[in-house]
Amino acid sequence: MNQTQQSHCLDPDDFGILLKILNEKGYLTVGPTRRDGAILYDVLESMYDLPIGWTDEQEAGIYRLKRRDDNALFGYNVGPHSWKKYLFPSKTKLWSATKKGAGFEIDGEADAPPTYAFIGVRACELHAIQVQDKVFMGGIFQDPIYTGRRQDCLIVAVNCTQAAKTCFCTSMQTGPKVNDGYDLVLTEIIDEARHYFVIESGSDVGADILKELTTSPAEQDDFQAAATHIENAKKQMGRTVDMTDIKDVLYHNYDNKRWEELEKRCLACGNCTMACPTCFCSNVEDVTDLTGEHAERWRTWDSCFTMDFSNIHGGSIRASIGSRYRQWLMHKLATWIDQFGSSGCVGCGRCIAWCPVGIDLTEEVKAISDSEEGDRNGTHQDN
Ligand code: SF4
Ligand code: SF4
Repeated sequence: MNQTQQSHCLDPDDFGILLKILNEKGYLTVGPTRRDGAILYDVLESMYDLPIGWTDEQEAGIYRLKRRDDNALFGYNVGPHSWKKYLFPSKTKLWSATKKGAGFEIDGEADAPPTYAFIGVRACELHAIQVQDKVFMGGIFQDPIYTGRRQDCLIVAVNCTQAAKTCFCTSMQTGPKVNDGYDLVLTEIIDEARHYFVIESGSDVGADILKELTTSPAEQDDFQAAATHIENAKKQMGRTVDMTDIKDVLYHNYDNKRWEELEKRCLACGNCTMACPTCFCSNVEDVTDLTGEHAERWRTWDSCFTMDFSNIHGGSIRASIGSRYRQWLMHKLATWIDQFGSSGCVGCGRCIAWCPVGIDLTEEVKAISDSEEGDRNGTHQDN
């Protein structure tokens, strides 16, 4: 085992010390909290801000919190928030300017973002961050806002030991076990005898932090218990998607009648794109105050479900809701692969739980794959 990979056992009562150490090192610790009937990401001032003893129940169009019969710190799955809330905020001021004489002068630089420590990042979410890394930092142009927030960000990941009915990370090969990209990873073990964490480091920074914690060495039984708990999550996986030839299947089904059928159900509300941890579209808006003395430019999340999104001179090129749903699903599972070399879906299930009418991506893919409508000789068009 090298310096980077260290494995220990941590008492849950000492989890707060980890937060304290991170705060003392200058990190802003953010992670799961219980608020407004959901598990939302917010600042963690102490371990008691975590949803201790709570779990979530999820189904298509359904999300509920429920008490557990134990005091698990991470006994739930993902909520409506994702880490893009911090790395790619929903609203960012790009610049502001104040009138000076006949013209405008750009105001000073914006404050630097905090150095985040993300607490409780799940395997699918880590993959989603890696997908957005490619989008914002992997090309010729690097997004300075995303890069500035991401580069020193510390990741404390948590292996899933349970899965929601909306989860399908095993199909997407993105979970439930965290494999890389973390500084520290924890597996919460609760059995008849004990409640504790197996904690492992994945970077030198993580290994140094681990040395500061009061831990005991992890033994073979602890690794076995962790593996069994993660296996439980695999067994509970609520949904599956057959990803075999998915790109070709979708490309050959541009004219499938399922898109028209979706037209009758989809509200084009855009909830799925807002909740999705990989969706990255944005708009830029200019605003001025009533005096005309002050102007600002903002970047805001956008959604391919709006009419304006595909508005080119003369109107929207995706006038029907069915064509907008098709654009979204095709991008996630087909064109994304051509564009970025991986799927744009990590199987977190948020778009299923948070769709107000319960439209389920896995069900739509299955319906299209099973359908006889597909024109196997069809060609790929972009509208
Ligand atoms: S498309 Fe849905 S399941 Fe896939 S990553 Fe986005 S929100 Fe999660
Ligand atoms: S699929 Fe559901 S969440 Fe997405 S735009 Fe349609 S109604 Fe809204």
